[in-house]
Amino acid sequence: MHEYSIAYDLYATARTAALEHKAKKVKKISVEVGKMAMVNPEQVVFLFETIREEDPLFLQAVLECHETEPQTKCPCGYEGNEVYVCPKCGALPELVRGREIVVTNVEIEVDD
Ligand SMILES: [Zn+2]
Repeated sequence: MHEYSIAYDLYATARTAALEHKAKKVKKISVEVGKMAMVNPEQVVFLFETIREEDPLFLQAVLECHETEPQTKCPCGYEGNEVYVCPKCGALPELVRGREIVVTNVEIEVDD
């Protein structure tokens, strides 16, 4: 399942970051999901919660997905958010961003 591997990747990325910083627990993971990634963020959060239960470090971890608008450009000079048809010339614009799934922040708790 597409969403499962994404959820697992996010978990693995956060886990690496947490271990690097000797975290006691992970509190929040913020993720940016491009709208053109064709991913259902609710599904990713749900799957993340099933993965989370296996790892004491993540028992209270919350996964927060923010959807980001796609950005496109066209050879005619158009730049904007239209994905399928360029509003200036009618061609198919090129996707500059919008497919990415990125961890933007991992909030952790460490020992004093
Ligand atoms: Zn155009």
